[in-house]
Amino acid sequence: MSTLHFGSALLPSGWADDVQIVVTDGIITRVAAGTAPGPHDERHALAIPGMASLHSHAFQRGMAGLTETRGTVADTFWTWRETMYRFALNMTPEDIEAVATLLYVEMLEQGFTRVGEFHYLHHDRDGSPYANPAEMTTRIARAAEISGIALTLLPSFYAHGSFGGTAPHDGQRRFICSVDQFAELMVAARAAVRALPGANVGVAPHSLRAVTPDELAAIVPLADGGPVHIHAAEQTREVDECIAWCGHRPVEWLLDHAPIDRHWCLIHATHMTAAETTALAKSDAVAGLCPVTEASLGDGIFPAREFAAAGGRFGIGTDSNVLIGVADELRQLEYGQRLKHRERNVLSGGPGVSTGRALFDAALAGGAQALAQTVAGFQSGARADIVTLDTAHPSLAGRSRDAVLDGWMFAAGAGAIAGVWAGGNKVVEGGRHRLRQRARDAFGAAVRRLVA
Ligand code: ZN
Repeated sequence: MSTLHFGSALLPSGWADDVQIVVTDGIITRVAAGTAPGPHDERHALAIPGMASLHSHAFQRGMAGLTETRGTVADTFWTWRETMYRFALNMTPEDIEAVATLLYVEMLEQGFTRVGEFHYLHHDRDGSPYANPAEMTTRIARAAEISGIALTLLPSFYAHGSFGGTAPHDGQRRFICSVDQFAELMVAARAAVRALPGANVGVAPHSLRAVTPDELAAIVPLADGGPVHIHAAEQTREVDECIAWCGHRPVEWLLDHAPIDRHWCLIHATHMTAAETTALAKSDAVAGLCPVTEASLGDGIFPAREFAAAGGRFGIGTDSNVLIGVADELRQLEYGQRLKHRERNVLSGGPGVSTGRALFDAALAGGAQALAQTVAGFQSGARADIVTLDTAHPSLAGRSRDAVLDGWMFAAGAGAIAGVWAGGNKVVEGGRHRLRQRARDAFGAAVRRLVA
């Protein structure tokens, strides 16, 4: 058991002063506000709960920044995807472990304490299954274990090259499973994370491009009550192809044909009509927004103002992992809306409300729901995922409560996070993960080989 004391902390009921948090076996067992610190309490100025990155493809961290030179044709998501495939095709299980470990170390340093790993790199480089079908999953689980981040593993079912069940192309060979093969992989994946503290498992039909309606119906029950994540309407070309295939838009089709409810998370949902936006908001599903990646790939801008006004739930994901940060994702989300609507503080929700606070609260709740965390934040029974901010940072100077969140999100850059506890273990101190250098060394060796 350990006891932490914070001058102020963001509780589910709002900010409170003199907060004592008792941690037992990695779980918060007591939260008491208005309590003087005990003689053995570890004391810090200000704490906020750890956030979930609800959508990550870990291997893509290895190619971050490598696709920023313009090609001979107009650069789009689809040209980026070709580079991504070439990179994915060369990675060994050891490479995946090294890249994912550094990624998760960086996530923890930037305030993410749980990751939803949407994992589709299943097979060997020639497309044949590994002897252990969960070889790659095991590497992801190992990276989570080394770093300390909590893992929600979302094995992805991927079977086709485009809508209507077309054959996959060769660049997709490491992703492809039959339904039976995938069911076996799910069993192996559950076994791979069974001993990992805080881990859980869901299922991720990749997209309506990669999965037929019959396959979707067969795959969803394999979640066994856990989360179901699917990419939807990230790209206008994807929307056009979906209409050509079935006469409906991707989000519209899913809402009409799939059992969408609070277990579901639609990743991106960037391109929706007003009717789709309202219907998704009313469905209880979470919109999994990845604002930094969506900007990087030129996807488009999610209708966040309309979705929030309709009561929609959202969380944030780092997706391509081109840049890692809770503050970066939330800032990009708000800035996209400001550029679109030519207004400021678009997502604050109302007069006198801090935008940083509104974004943080919404993403914390949405991320927890999307990764099936029924208890999250600073309350008894939740995993002890705690982030302290450096109140001596210039952008936080003289601030308290919501103004600290605003300073961190909009003005501080990467240096404002001081400490991070993951499942009660203090893994980040002075802004550095205790395994940062080791993880950087292994990552560097893997990536130098891959880009050579
Ligand atoms: Zn994705």
